[in-house]
Amino acid sequence: MRQYAHVFFDLDETLWDFKRNSVETLEEVLKLYKLESKGVNTSLFSERYHYHNSVYWGLFRKGMIAREELRIIRFTSTLKEFELTDNELAIRMSESYLTLLPTKTKLYDDAHEILSYLQAKYSLHIITNGFEEVQIMKLRNSGITAYFKYVISSEMAGSQKPNREIFKYAFNKTNASVLDSIFIGDSIEADIQGAKSVGMDHVLFNPDRIQHLEQVTYEINALKELKTFL
Ligand SMILES: [Mg+2]
Repeated sequence: MRQYAHVFFDLDETLWDFKRNSVETLEEVLKLYKLESKGVNTSLFSERYHYHNSVYWGLFRKGMIAREELRIIRFTSTLKEFELTDNELAIRMSESYLTLLPTKTKLYDDAHEILSYLQAKYSLHIITNGFEEVQIMKLRNSGITAYFKYVISSEMAGSQKPNREIFKYAFNKTNASVLDSIFIGDSIEADIQGAKSVGMDHVLFNPDRIQHLEQVTYEINALKELKTFL
């Protein structure tokens, strides 16, 4: 078994509860633009938005669309399903969403307790594919900034998970090595396959107990399970 000195975390959907925070934000955005009076059902809109968001994030990760395009197209595509073809509205909704989202503070259960426990034993860092300024705000507003020595974003690394470059950039920046590091994330494609590509031990955070065939170093359904091996 490897002796770890550095624990790297993904942020969205691993510590910061992206889904619950995003649903809350969308509800506010829909209210702001009075979409219910245009016949839009909030929970259906939210469901369709998150579908489009994950499709376009997939394309963004592969470099097939740009960041600005991703930010707008997830709204235009959702609005279209409600027969609202309004590019201006999509742009304004996107701006409101991006302003409000990082102010949300919902974390997964026991996040503070586990981070405080791990901080006493290891150097903790974040490796995130999110937009730099947005991710920094999420950490600050949810009160977890102080647990981490380094926050590495895809923007500053010039590379996104699962590409090897962002992990190598992170090792350099934090003075860590593949042998004394472990990565914790929720995405098989971005986090687990990325960690594997550099030979780093990894933990799949799988709170919804999604079935998969991926071989992983460890798998947990709740953050507190990290205590059993870290
Ligand atoms: Mg994630």
